[in-house]
Amino acid sequence: MKIAVFMKQVPAYSEGNMDEKTGVIIRAGLPSIANVYDVVALETALRIKEITNAEITVFTMGPDKAEDVIREAYSMGADKGYLICDKAFAGSDVLATSYTLSQAVSSVDNFDIILCGKQTTDGDTAQVSGAVAEWLGIPHMNWVCEIINVTENEINVKCQLDGRLSVIQTAYPCILSVEKSIFTPRMPSLKLKMSSRKKEISKITLDDLNDKNENNYGLKGSATKVRKIFPPERTAKRDIVIKNGKDGADYILEIFKNTFNSKEENI
Ligand SMILES: Cc1cc2nc3c(=O)[nH]c(=O)nc-3n(C[C@H](O)[C@H](O)[C@H](O)COP(=O)(O)OP(=O)(O)OC[C@H]3O[C@@H](n4cnc5c(N)ncnc54)[C@H](O)[C@@H]3O)c2cc1C
Repeated sequence: MKIAVFMKQVPAYSEGNMDEKTGVIIRAGLPSIANVYDVVALETALRIKEITNAEITVFTMGPDKAEDVIREAYSMGADKGYLICDKAFAGSDVLATSYTLSQAVSSVDNFDIILCGKQTTDGDTAQVSGAVAEWLGIPHMNWVCEIINVTENEINVKCQLDGRLSVIQTAYPCILSVEKSIFTPRMPSLKLKMSSRKKEISKITLDDLNDKNENNYGLKGSATKVRKIFPPERTAKRDIVIKNGKDGADYILEIFKNTFNSKEENI
């Protein structure tokens, strides 16, 4: 059985790094991390591997530096990694990103399951997994919060949809986006961390894809254009109060009393 996991490298924080004139996030010089939701997707793949002995291949689309994400995935137990990197892919929106990811996985193998995080912490659209499902024409299970059963042939999951739980069973191939709560990611193993330094990372460029038409990728293949980007204005005022023991308890009690009294006055 073969599992692909999509993992994106994101800035460790984003506020204050927006170029309001050009409408892009300034990533240079920012510390980068693996998207936390995607580390959970990898953990889900590792749990499935424990049951089915699957092979796990990680894909990340981004600049050369994004290969750090693959090294991190290796140190948790991923078997293979591909960096999808070409100047033709720069400036991709959801449409172009999902198309590139779909082309990349299809160019490597026939995967039984593709796992994604629920969303990223930078783009945050939560649309990529659904769009990949459309491009590949395969079943899509969104916001998976529990794996009920998984075998070599099919998977049965619970999805946390708005206001209801949905139980879905499907044969392969399929794509799943997972909720953060589904599993707690394991710590990287020191032994795997050491070996991951030398482990090969393959690169996928435009030339490796079936569709080599540049117009379908990057800015040219994007249907959207960012007109304005800005950090949200902070409106809520917050007081930071440090008190210990009884002083702290009295302080909180006073706030409750005031809140309760003002509510009673309004009744
Ligand atoms: C006009 C325009 C220009 C842009 N230019 C840039 C740019 O130059 N550089 C840039 O980084 N972003 C750019 N973006 C943002 C980029 O479009 C989004 O990051 C991308 O569409 C993915 O969407 P998302 O982050 O909302 O993913 P979501 O839909 O929130 O992610 C869901 C899941 O999909 C998978 N996934 C998403 N993206 C990737 C990826 N790259 N690699 C592997 N897995 C992935 C992950 O598993 C993730 O958890 C641009 C956006 C627009 C509209």
